[in-house]
Amino acid sequence: MRYLSFMHNSQELYGCIANDAVVDLGKRSGLPDLAAYITANFSRLGSETDLEPDFTLDAIRYLPVIPSPSKVLCVATNYYEPGEEERHETGFPLLFSRFAASQTGHAEPLPKPDISDTFDYEGELAVIIGRTGRRIPQVDALSHVAGYACFNDGSVRDWQKHSTQFTPGKNFARSAGFGPWMVSTDELPDPTGLALTTRVNGELRQSNNTSRLIFSIPFLISYISQFTVLEPGDVIVTGTPSGFGSTRKPPVFLSVGDVVEVEIEKIGTLRNDVAAESDAWQ
Ligand code: MG
Repeated sequence: MRYLSFMHNSQELYGCIANDAVVDLGKRSGLPDLAAYITANFSRLGSETDLEPDFTLDAIRYLPVIPSPSKVLCVATNYYEPGEEERHETGFPLLFSRFAASQTGHAEPLPKPDISDTFDYEGELAVIIGRTGRRIPQVDALSHVAGYACFNDGSVRDWQKHSTQFTPGKNFARSAGFGPWMVSTDELPDPTGLALTTRVNGELRQSNNTSRLIFSIPFLISYISQFTVLEPGDVIVTGTPSGFGSTRKPPVFLSVGDVVEVEIEKIGTLRNDVAAESDAWQ
């Protein structure tokens, strides 16, 4: 089942998709947001069948799948290169966090900061937690997942590199696309083997497969849950493959008018147009 958060007539709502239209689940459940709905219905996700849709897809504006997660934890580059031999990984992942305000929804503008010309894309798989857990063993990790979504970990490279901490460059307002929806684990039980591609203006920039993650999703859930309690609605953004703009030769960054698409097999395509800050805040 696909779950999403959205705006309709200036109201923040959430729901699921049925027959290519939107079912308002808040109206039916009385729960305030998708994270609360996941908390209450984790073991029943995917069972919302035979519900009459309330809105057409073109009548809504997409919000980030989880608009206000208690945590968004992100992994730095995390894929073996195409052709690179997988090795036994003995280190630890580089983690950083994003604030909720740094997210935006599918089809919403991505504001290019006026104060930087190094705005970059990173296509990634996002994991949405569905069940509370602490010190989760790797073998149980996937049983804590509610579903998966596309994420563009939009990065402002000069601000990312002002110091050794990534926080400023990874937290410009609305710089990360998150969507269009979450595909729940009843429909997508195994997050491996999914082709991930990123295109800019239709040109292929990143191409890899979630089977080629250096730190696997069970490892990441287990590792992160050693130091923090993972709660429903928390988001783990699992890292990007090679091919993002700052590592290209010559480097190429996003400009106003560019169209960024992150497509993940069995999930969908997240699309955002890069806009001037002044236009993005209309
Ligand atoms: Mg990233």
